[in-house]
Amino acid sequence: MAHPTYSNLIGGEWLPPKSGKSFLNLNPADHSDVVGEFPASGADDVALAVAAAKKAFATWRLVPAPKRAEILYKTGQLLQERKEQYARAMTREMGKVLAETRGDVQEAIDEAFYVAGEGRRLFGQTTPSELQNKFAMSVRMPVGVVGMITPWNFPMAIPSWKLFPALVSGNTCVIKPAEDTPLSTYNLVQALMDAGLPPGVVNIVAGFGPDAGAPLVEHKDVRAISFTGSSEIGSIVAQRAAANFKPVSLEMGGKNAQIVLDDANLELALDGALWGAFGTTGQRCTATSRILVQKGIAAEFSAKLVERVKRLRVGSGLEDATEVGPQVNDQQIETSTKYVEIAKSEGAKLLAGGERLTDGAYGTGTFFAPTVFGGVKPEMRIAREEVFGPVVSLIEFDSFEEAIEIANSIEYGLSTALYTRDVNKAFTAIRDLEAGITYINAPTIGAEVHLPFGGVKQTGNGHREGSQAIDFYTTWKAVYVDYSDKLQRAQIDNAE
Ligand code: ADP
Repeated sequence: MAHPTYSNLIGGEWLPPKSGKSFLNLNPADHSDVVGEFPASGADDVALAVAAAKKAFATWRLVPAPKRAEILYKTGQLLQERKEQYARAMTREMGKVLAETRGDVQEAIDEAFYVAGEGRRLFGQTTPSELQNKFAMSVRMPVGVVGMITPWNFPMAIPSWKLFPALVSGNTCVIKPAEDTPLSTYNLVQALMDAGLPPGVVNIVAGFGPDAGAPLVEHKDVRAISFTGSSEIGSIVAQRAAANFKPVSLEMGGKNAQIVLDDANLELALDGALWGAFGTTGQRCTATSRILVQKGIAAEFSAKLVERVKRLRVGSGLEDATEVGPQVNDQQIETSTKYVEIAKSEGAKLLAGGERLTDGAYGTGTFFAPTVFGGVKPEMRIAREEVFGPVVSLIEFDSFEEAIEIANSIEYGLSTALYTRDVNKAFTAIRDLEAGITYINAPTIGAEVHLPFGGVKQTGNGHREGSQAIDFYTTWKAVYVDYSDKLQRAQIDNAE
């Protein structure tokens, strides 16, 4: 069947890439199903998009914020109407099960309604001046043209976390979606346009990271970069942006731990581990990839977990019965396979899965068996490095203090979970776990849009999305209004 061909969105027009090159977006559950053909853009296309965004900024920044917010509100309504359609398109291009892609669209809806409220809440501050008859205040200003580079695992939610707060703040945007999942960004931006977003305010340049992402980072008219992806690429992006002092918001990897103490509700902890490790096929930056279990319950927990993991139904995310969809592409399968080998060679014990699935219908896609390793030691690479696949490690510990130490012993610091009935230990963990997110008696995944999202250490560089995103997409201006009708010199005229 013929597949649709997409262009870049530049200044409200659909323009093919200057290179004339394109790439195919394939269904990871069935590679014979081509979702669409997308432009493989380069620096020339980025330059056009940035110019369009710069032009649009001149007028968009003057639209009152409550009016900008109304467009976001309308976008949320359109996304509600199109939720099923966009969720199905997302499962086709990304693989995760329909319940989760519906959740992904829902997150964009939540973000739209939440951020729409910010249109009437872009508060600044007033403060007394040190001088008489002088008024002092601070106001938020838009940054200008913002470049956005997004990953494939939340193809609509993550772009919405970036675009909506940037737009309500008065910025214009150029977005480079992940090469595996561009369609969901197109769908999101289509909803924005249908809601009345003026041309040029959001521009899409599709393509590969080094060709289309890098020039966006380096373009002198791009005033800030928001990036979500791997720590490896995040580091490159930050270093390139630093050359001209461009602020960069980075959301990167994780190696998230779920700690299970021996007083925990075991069934609840099992449910949490299963969802945290194998939801989204383990391909969330907040996915549970280490389960730290107290020695007294470790054997029982491990046996029950393995038994349930072996029963997980792997298949196309479009089928109702499926619990775990495919991995997004061959490269991710290679990474999972590589880490299985590493774990085995380090002496970890393979308890379930451990290989690519190729039989029957699995042969046409990129499926990996849900995998559990036991006997994992905190110093092993499988316990320290991000896999981003359906692979989880069981680590045993003696004391609560030791669990916190193991949880903190890695370079990442995104999400953590603790299962216990002991309120003292819960609050101690909240204080001591080095992570941007801590859950008590809930899995490591499940962030909500109106809380800060992000991590510490190599997971981020101090910025937060969600409730704090406006801080990144605005810059402060201090304003002094002197109504004394005379020159008043600060620090001088009122000094004793
Ligand atoms: P993931 O493993 O989740 O795909 P990546 O860090 O590889 O994470 O990619 C995240 C995003 O960064 C993608 O949109 C990708 O195209 C983009 N990207 C990759 N390399 C570069 C680069 N050198 N400069 C800018 N963006 C890049």
